[in-house]
Amino acid sequence: MRTDHIYIHFPFCKKKCPYCDFFSLVSGNMKEYREYIDHLHKEADLYQGYFSDNIRTVYFGGGTPSLMDPDDLREILLRFKTGGDAEVTLEVNPATADYGKLKAFMEAGVTRLSVGSQSFIDAELRTLGRIHGVNDIYEVYEAARKAGCGNMNLDLITGIPGSTPAGALYSASELCRLEPEHVSVYILTYYEGTPFTSLLSSGRLKKLEDDVEIELFSLSAGVLARHGFERYEISNFSKPGRRSAHNMNTWDFGNYIGLGASAHSFLEKFRWENPQDLASYYKKVETRSSGIITGNEVQEKDLKNEFLMLGLRKISGLNVNDYAKIFGTPVGSDFEKLDYYINKGVLLCGNDTIRLPQNMLDVFNSVVSDIII
Ligand code: SF4
Repeated sequence: MRTDHIYIHFPFCKKKCPYCDFFSLVSGNMKEYREYIDHLHKEADLYQGYFSDNIRTVYFGGGTPSLMDPDDLREILLRFKTGGDAEVTLEVNPATADYGKLKAFMEAGVTRLSVGSQSFIDAELRTLGRIHGVNDIYEVYEAARKAGCGNMNLDLITGIPGSTPAGALYSASELCRLEPEHVSVYILTYYEGTPFTSLLSSGRLKKLEDDVEIELFSLSAGVLARHGFERYEISNFSKPGRRSAHNMNTWDFGNYIGLGASAHSFLEKFRWENPQDLASYYKKVETRSSGIITGNEVQEKDLKNEFLMLGLRKISGLNVNDYAKIFGTPVGSDFEKLDYYINKGVLLCGNDTIRLPQNMLDVFNSVVSDIII
Protein backbone atom coordinates (compact mmCIF):
# COMPACT_ATOMS: atom_id res chain seq x y z
CA MET A 1 0.00 0.00 0.00
CA ARG A 2 1.94 3.01 -1.32
CA THR A 3 1.01 6.41 -2.61
CA ASP A 4 2.34 8.64 -5.39
CA HIS A 5 0.74 11.77 -3.93
CA ILE A 6 1.73 13.92 -0.96
CA TYR A 7 0.16 16.98 0.64
CA ILE A 8 2.23 19.13 3.03
CA HIS A 9 0.52 21.68 5.25
CA PHE A 10 2.35 24.82 6.38
CA PRO A 11 0.04 26.40 8.96
CA PHE A 12 1.42 29.91 9.36
CA CYS A 13 0.09 33.16 7.88
CA LYS A 14 1.01 36.82 8.27
CA LYS A 15 -2.59 37.65 9.18
CA LYS A 16 -5.77 35.61 9.50
CA CYS A 17 -8.35 36.32 6.77
CA PRO A 18 -11.79 36.61 8.39
CA TYR A 19 -13.48 34.14 6.02
CA CYS A 20 -10.85 31.38 6.33
CA ASP A 21 -11.46 28.11 8.12
CA PHE A 22 -8.18 26.39 7.27
CA PHE A 23 -5.95 25.59 10.21
CA SER A 24 -3.51 28.49 10.26
CA LEU A 25 -1.81 30.58 12.93
CA VAL A 26 -0.51 34.11 12.69
CA SER A 27 3.25 33.90 13.04
CA GLY A 28 6.39 35.22 11.42
CA ASN A 29 8.61 33.56 13.99
CA MET A 30 11.38 31.62 12.26
CA LYS A 31 12.03 29.58 15.41
CA GLU A 32 8.41 28.42 15.33
CA TYR A 33 8.72 27.58 11.62
CA ARG A 34 11.91 25.61 12.34
CA GLU A 35 10.23 23.53 15.05
CA TYR A 36 7.31 22.80 12.74
CA ILE A 37 9.52 21.80 9.82
CA ASP A 38 11.52 19.48 12.09
CA HIS A 39 8.26 17.73 12.89
CA LEU A 40 7.37 17.47 9.21
CA HIS A 41 10.64 15.59 8.72
CA LYS A 42 9.90 13.32 11.64
CA GLU A 43 6.42 12.62 10.34
CA ALA A 44 7.76 11.85 6.85
CA ASP A 45 10.02 9.27 8.51
CA LEU A 46 6.97 7.54 9.96
CA TYR A 47 5.53 7.01 6.50
CA GLN A 48 8.68 6.02 4.62
CA GLY A 49 7.23 2.64 3.71
CA TYR A 50 4.11 4.22 2.27
CA PHE A 51 5.69 6.56 -0.29
CA SER A 52 6.22 5.14 -3.76
CA ASP A 53 9.53 5.34 -5.60
CA ASN A 54 7.89 7.55 -8.20
CA ILE A 55 6.06 10.35 -6.42
CA ARG A 56 3.83 12.08 -8.99
CA THR A 57 2.62 15.11 -7.04
CA VAL A 58 3.64 17.08 -3.98
CA TYR A 59 1.40 19.95 -2.90
CA PHE A 60 2.56 22.57 -0.38
CA GLY A 61 -0.63 24.16 0.94
CA GLY A 62 -1.57 26.20 3.94
CA GLY A 63 -1.60 28.50 5.65
CA THR A 64 0.96 30.37 3.61
CA PRO A 65 3.73 28.00 2.51
CA SER A 66 5.37 30.80 0.51
CA LEU A 67 6.52 32.11 3.93
CA MET A 68 8.84 29.09 4.12
CA ASP A 69 12.53 29.34 3.52
CA PRO A 70 13.13 27.80 0.04
CA ASP A 71 16.01 25.78 1.52
CA ASP A 72 13.60 24.18 3.98
CA LEU A 73 11.26 23.28 1.13
CA ARG A 74 14.18 21.76 -0.78
CA GLU A 75 15.16 19.64 2.24
CA ILE A 76 11.62 18.29 2.51
CA LEU A 77 11.40 17.53 -1.20
CA LEU A 78 14.71 15.66 -1.09
CA ARG A 79 13.07 13.08 1.15
CA PHE A 80 10.88 11.87 -1.71
CA LYS A 81 11.76 10.08 -4.92
CA THR A 82 9.98 12.32 -7.39
CA GLY A 83 9.89 11.52 -11.08
CA GLY A 84 11.38 14.04 -13.50
CA ASP A 85 7.93 15.28 -14.52
CA ALA A 86 6.41 15.35 -11.02
CA GLU A 87 4.00 18.20 -10.31
CA VAL A 88 5.27 20.11 -7.26
CA THR A 89 2.86 22.89 -6.35
CA LEU A 90 3.44 25.75 -3.92
CA GLU A 91 0.61 28.02 -2.79
CA VAL A 92 1.74 31.65 -2.87
CA ASN A 93 0.20 34.62 -1.13
CA PRO A 94 0.96 37.59 -3.43
CA ALA A 95 2.35 39.70 -0.58
CA THR A 96 4.88 37.14 0.60
CA ALA A 97 7.23 36.46 -2.29
CA ASP A 98 9.39 38.41 -4.70
CA TYR A 99 11.42 37.37 -7.71
CA GLY A 100 14.44 36.18 -5.68
CA LYS A 101 12.35 33.99 -3.42
CA LEU A 102 10.27 32.54 -6.23
CA LYS A 103 13.42 31.76 -8.21
CA ALA A 104 14.81 29.97 -5.15
CA PHE A 105 11.58 27.95 -4.82
CA MET A 106 11.76 26.96 -8.49
CA GLU A 107 15.40 25.90 -8.07
CA ALA A 108 14.40 23.92 -4.99
CA GLY A 109 12.09 21.78 -7.13
CA VAL A 110 8.74 23.60 -7.33
CA THR A 111 7.18 23.26 -10.79
CA ARG A 112 3.81 24.91 -10.30
CA LEU A 113 2.74 28.04 -8.40
CA SER A 114 -0.80 28.57 -7.17
CA VAL A 115 -1.39 32.23 -6.40
CA GLY A 116 -4.15 33.24 -3.98
CA SER A 117 -5.19 36.26 -6.03
CA GLN A 118 -8.91 36.02 -5.10
CA SER A 119 -10.04 39.26 -6.80
CA PHE A 120 -8.73 42.00 -9.06
CA ILE A 121 -10.65 44.72 -7.25
CA ASP A 122 -8.91 46.32 -4.27
CA ALA A 123 -12.18 47.03 -2.43
CA GLU A 124 -13.09 43.32 -2.60
CA LEU A 125 -9.64 42.30 -1.36
CA ARG A 126 -10.13 44.66 1.58
CA THR A 127 -13.54 43.13 2.33
CA LEU A 128 -11.86 39.70 2.35
CA GLY A 129 -9.20 41.02 4.75
CA ARG A 130 -6.39 40.00 2.42
CA ILE A 131 -2.92 41.39 3.09
CA HIS A 132 -2.31 42.08 -0.58
CA GLY A 133 -3.66 44.48 -3.16
CA VAL A 134 -4.20 44.03 -6.88
CA ASN A 135 -0.76 45.44 -7.72
CA ASP A 136 0.84 42.70 -5.61
CA ILE A 137 -0.88 40.10 -7.81
CA TYR A 138 0.52 41.61 -11.00
CA GLU A 139 3.97 41.88 -9.45
CA VAL A 140 4.10 38.34 -8.08
CA TYR A 141 2.76 36.94 -11.34
CA GLU A 142 5.39 38.73 -13.41
CA ALA A 143 8.09 37.69 -10.95
CA ALA A 144 6.94 34.06 -11.12
CA ARG A 145 7.11 34.00 -14.92
CA LYS A 146 10.52 35.66 -14.83
CA ALA A 147 11.64 33.04 -12.31
CA GLY A 148 10.82 30.38 -14.90
CA CYS A 149 7.43 29.13 -13.74
CA GLY A 150 5.55 27.72 -16.74
CA ASN A 151 2.57 26.34 -14.85
CA MET A 152 0.50 28.75 -12.82
CA ASN A 153 -2.86 28.67 -11.10
CA LEU A 154 -4.74 31.78 -10.02
CA ASP A 155 -7.58 31.60 -7.46
CA LEU A 156 -10.70 33.69 -7.74
CA ILE A 157 -13.45 34.14 -5.15
CA THR A 158 -16.89 35.22 -6.39
CA GLY A 159 -19.91 36.34 -4.40
CA ILE A 160 -17.93 38.68 -2.14
CA PRO A 161 -20.32 41.06 -0.33
CA GLY A 162 -20.69 44.17 -2.45
CA SER A 163 -19.67 42.42 -5.68
CA THR A 164 -21.50 43.32 -8.87
CA PRO A 165 -21.84 41.61 -12.27
CA ALA A 166 -19.55 44.27 -13.77
CA GLY A 167 -16.98 43.56 -11.06
CA ALA A 168 -17.13 39.79 -11.63
CA LEU A 169 -16.58 40.32 -15.36
CA TYR A 170 -13.71 42.72 -14.68
CA SER A 171 -11.90 40.39 -12.25
CA ALA A 172 -12.22 37.38 -14.53
CA SER A 173 -11.06 39.42 -17.54
CA GLU A 174 -8.05 40.81 -15.70
CA LEU A 175 -7.14 37.32 -14.58
CA CYS A 176 -7.39 36.02 -18.16
CA ARG A 177 -5.22 38.88 -19.41
CA LEU A 178 -2.38 37.36 -17.36
CA GLU A 179 -2.81 34.03 -19.20
CA PRO A 180 -2.36 31.49 -16.38
CA GLU A 181 -2.55 27.79 -17.24
CA HIS A 182 -5.16 27.03 -14.55
CA VAL A 183 -7.85 28.84 -12.58
CA SER A 184 -9.84 27.84 -9.50
CA VAL A 185 -13.06 29.76 -8.86
CA TYR A 186 -15.00 29.47 -5.61
CA ILE A 187 -18.15 31.08 -4.34
CA LEU A 188 -17.38 32.67 -0.95
CA THR A 189 -18.35 30.24 1.81
CA TYR A 190 -19.34 31.38 5.29
CA TYR A 191 -17.81 28.77 7.56
CA GLU A 192 -19.10 28.22 11.07
CA GLY A 193 -16.88 29.85 13.69
CA THR A 194 -15.16 32.35 11.38
CA PRO A 195 -15.32 36.14 11.95
CA PHE A 196 -17.35 36.42 8.73
CA THR A 197 -20.22 34.37 10.18
CA SER A 198 -20.27 36.59 13.31
CA LEU A 199 -20.30 39.70 11.14
CA LEU A 200 -23.12 38.15 9.14
CA SER A 201 -25.24 37.37 12.19
CA SER A 202 -24.66 40.82 13.69
CA GLY A 203 -25.72 42.40 10.39
CA ARG A 204 -22.37 44.09 9.84
CA LEU A 205 -21.77 42.04 6.70
CA LYS A 206 -24.43 41.43 4.08
CA LYS A 207 -24.29 38.17 2.19
CA LEU A 208 -25.36 38.31 -1.45
CA GLU A 209 -28.48 36.32 -2.32
CA ASP A 210 -27.73 32.74 -3.41
CA ASP A 211 -28.96 33.35 -6.96
CA VAL A 212 -26.74 36.44 -7.26
CA GLU A 213 -23.72 34.43 -6.07
CA ILE A 214 -24.47 31.82 -8.73
CA GLU A 215 -24.93 34.49 -11.38
CA LEU A 216 -21.54 36.04 -10.54
CA PHE A 217 -19.91 32.62 -10.66
CA SER A 218 -21.51 31.95 -14.07
CA LEU A 219 -20.29 35.29 -15.41
CA SER A 220 -16.72 34.45 -14.31
CA ALA A 221 -17.00 30.96 -15.82
CA GLY A 222 -18.25 32.48 -19.08
CA VAL A 223 -15.21 34.76 -19.33
CA LEU A 224 -12.90 31.81 -18.69
CA ALA A 225 -14.64 29.74 -21.38
CA ARG A 226 -14.25 32.56 -23.88
CA HIS A 227 -10.52 32.63 -23.12
CA GLY A 228 -10.10 28.93 -23.88
CA PHE A 229 -10.30 27.47 -20.38
CA GLU A 230 -11.90 24.06 -20.12
CA ARG A 231 -14.04 23.53 -17.03
CA TYR A 232 -13.04 20.06 -15.85
CA GLU A 233 -14.40 20.15 -12.31
CA ILE A 234 -17.07 22.24 -10.64
CA SER A 235 -14.59 24.91 -9.49
CA ASN A 236 -11.58 24.26 -11.72
CA PHE A 237 -10.67 25.41 -15.21
CA SER A 238 -7.56 24.72 -17.22
CA LYS A 239 -5.92 25.25 -20.55
CA PRO A 240 -5.62 21.97 -22.53
CA GLY A 241 -3.29 19.52 -20.79
CA ARG A 242 -2.89 21.72 -17.70
CA ARG A 243 -5.26 20.11 -15.20
CA SER A 244 -3.98 19.87 -11.65
CA ALA A 245 -2.65 16.32 -11.30
CA HIS A 246 -2.77 16.63 -7.52
CA ASN A 247 -6.46 17.57 -7.44
CA MET A 248 -7.36 15.04 -10.15
CA ASN A 249 -5.93 12.30 -7.97
CA THR A 250 -8.30 13.30 -5.15
CA TRP A 251 -11.36 13.44 -7.42
CA ASP A 252 -10.34 10.13 -8.99
CA PHE A 253 -10.44 8.56 -5.52
CA GLY A 254 -6.67 8.08 -5.41
CA ASN A 255 -4.50 7.55 -2.35
CA TYR A 256 -2.58 10.40 -0.76
CA ILE A 257 -0.68 11.11 2.43
CA GLY A 258 -0.92 14.48 4.16
CA LEU A 259 1.90 15.70 6.37
CA GLY A 260 1.52 18.46 8.94
CA ALA A 261 -1.06 19.70 11.41
CA SER A 262 -4.65 19.25 10.16
CA ALA A 263 -3.50 17.38 7.03
CA HIS A 264 -5.77 14.60 5.76
CA SER A 265 -4.64 11.24 4.40
CA PHE A 266 -6.42 8.50 2.48
CA LEU A 267 -4.92 5.08 1.88
CA GLU A 268 -7.25 2.41 0.51
CA LYS A 269 -9.89 2.00 3.20
CA PHE A 270 -8.16 4.19 5.74
CA ARG A 271 -8.69 7.87 6.23
CA TRP A 272 -7.24 10.04 8.98
CA GLU A 273 -6.64 13.66 9.89
CA ASN A 274 -3.82 15.13 11.94
CA PRO A 275 -4.67 17.29 14.97
CA GLN A 276 -5.58 20.90 14.30
CA ASP A 277 -3.23 22.32 16.92
CA LEU A 278 0.52 22.29 17.04
CA ALA A 279 0.99 20.81 20.52
CA SER A 280 -1.17 17.75 19.75
CA TYR A 281 0.38 17.35 16.33
CA TYR A 282 3.91 17.46 17.78
CA LYS A 283 2.93 14.99 20.47
CA LYS A 284 1.52 12.56 17.91
CA VAL A 285 4.63 12.75 15.79
CA GLU A 286 6.97 12.40 18.75
CA THR A 287 5.16 9.40 20.16
CA ARG A 288 5.24 7.86 16.69
CA SER A 289 1.52 7.30 16.78
CA SER A 290 0.79 9.58 13.83
CA GLY A 291 -0.24 7.95 10.63
CA ILE A 292 -2.07 4.93 9.45
CA ILE A 293 -1.79 3.33 12.86
CA THR A 294 -4.38 5.81 14.08
CA GLY A 295 -6.33 5.85 10.82
CA ASN A 296 -9.95 4.89 10.83
CA GLU A 297 -11.19 2.28 8.44
CA VAL A 298 -13.92 4.04 6.51
CA GLN A 299 -17.28 2.26 6.30
CA GLU A 300 -17.98 0.94 2.81
CA LYS A 301 -21.16 3.01 2.62
CA ASP A 302 -19.16 6.20 3.23
CA LEU A 303 -16.58 5.23 0.63
CA LYS A 304 -19.35 4.68 -1.92
CA ASN A 305 -20.87 8.07 -1.13
CA GLU A 306 -17.46 9.74 -1.48
CA PHE A 307 -16.84 8.05 -4.81
CA LEU A 308 -20.19 9.33 -6.07
CA MET A 309 -19.66 12.88 -4.79
CA LEU A 310 -16.12 13.18 -6.11
CA GLY A 311 -17.07 11.61 -9.46
CA LEU A 312 -19.98 13.97 -10.07
CA ARG A 313 -17.75 16.99 -9.28
CA LYS A 314 -15.81 16.19 -12.47
CA ILE A 315 -17.24 17.32 -15.78
CA SER A 316 -16.32 13.88 -17.17
CA GLY A 317 -18.47 12.33 -14.41
CA LEU A 318 -18.06 9.13 -12.44
CA ASN A 319 -16.87 6.01 -14.15
CA VAL A 320 -19.30 3.14 -13.58
CA ASN A 321 -16.67 0.49 -14.40
CA ASP A 322 -14.26 1.90 -11.81
CA TYR A 323 -17.07 1.87 -9.27
CA ALA A 324 -17.91 -1.78 -9.99
CA LYS A 325 -14.22 -2.73 -9.82
CA ILE A 326 -13.70 -1.07 -6.44
CA PHE A 327 -16.95 -2.05 -4.73
CA GLY A 328 -18.02 -5.19 -6.60
CA THR A 329 -21.55 -3.91 -7.24
CA PRO A 330 -23.09 -1.78 -10.01
CA VAL A 331 -23.44 1.86 -8.98
CA GLY A 332 -27.13 1.81 -9.98
CA SER A 333 -27.95 -0.93 -7.51
CA ASP A 334 -26.35 0.98 -4.61
CA PHE A 335 -27.89 4.39 -5.31
CA GLU A 336 -31.58 3.88 -6.00
CA LYS A 337 -32.24 7.54 -6.79
CA LEU A 338 -29.71 7.60 -9.67
CA ASP A 339 -32.33 6.29 -12.11
CA TYR A 340 -34.77 9.00 -11.09
CA TYR A 341 -32.30 11.76 -11.97
CA ILE A 342 -31.18 10.01 -15.15
CA ASN A 343 -34.80 9.64 -16.33
CA LYS A 344 -35.45 13.31 -15.54
CA GLY A 345 -32.44 14.25 -17.69
CA VAL A 346 -30.63 15.86 -14.75
CA LEU A 347 -27.85 13.26 -15.02
CA LEU A 348 -26.48 12.03 -18.33
CA CYS A 349 -25.19 8.52 -19.09
CA GLY A 350 -22.70 7.58 -21.77
CA ASN A 351 -19.25 6.08 -22.34
CA ASP A 352 -19.43 4.20 -19.05
CA THR A 353 -19.94 7.43 -17.16
CA ILE A 354 -22.69 9.25 -15.30
CA ARG A 355 -22.35 13.01 -15.18
CA LEU A 356 -24.02 16.30 -14.48
CA PRO A 357 -24.20 18.42 -17.64
CA GLN A 358 -22.46 21.80 -17.32
CA ASN A 359 -25.74 23.73 -17.23
CA MET A 360 -26.85 21.70 -14.18
CA LEU A 361 -23.73 22.10 -12.04
CA ASP A 362 -25.51 24.69 -9.90
CA VAL A 363 -27.74 21.94 -8.51
CA PHE A 364 -24.79 19.70 -7.61
CA ASN A 365 -25.34 19.95 -3.84
CA SER A 366 -29.08 19.27 -3.90
CA VAL A 367 -28.78 16.35 -6.37
CA VAL A 368 -25.90 14.67 -4.56
CA SER A 369 -27.42 15.06 -1.12
CA ASP A 370 -30.60 13.43 -2.42
CA ILE A 371 -28.79 10.49 -4.04
CA ILE A 372 -26.24 9.50 -1.40
CA ILE A 373 -27.09 6.64 0.94
S1 SF4 B 1 -3.77 33.55 3.77
FE1 SF4 B 1 -4.98 31.73 3.17
S2 SF4 B 1 -4.69 30.24 4.82
FE2 SF4 B 1 -3.97 32.24 5.59
S3 SF4 B 1 -5.74 33.06 6.67
FE3 SF4 B 1 -5.83 33.87 4.58
S4 SF4 B 1 -7.11 32.38 3.41
FE4 SF4 B 1 -6.48 31.42 5.34
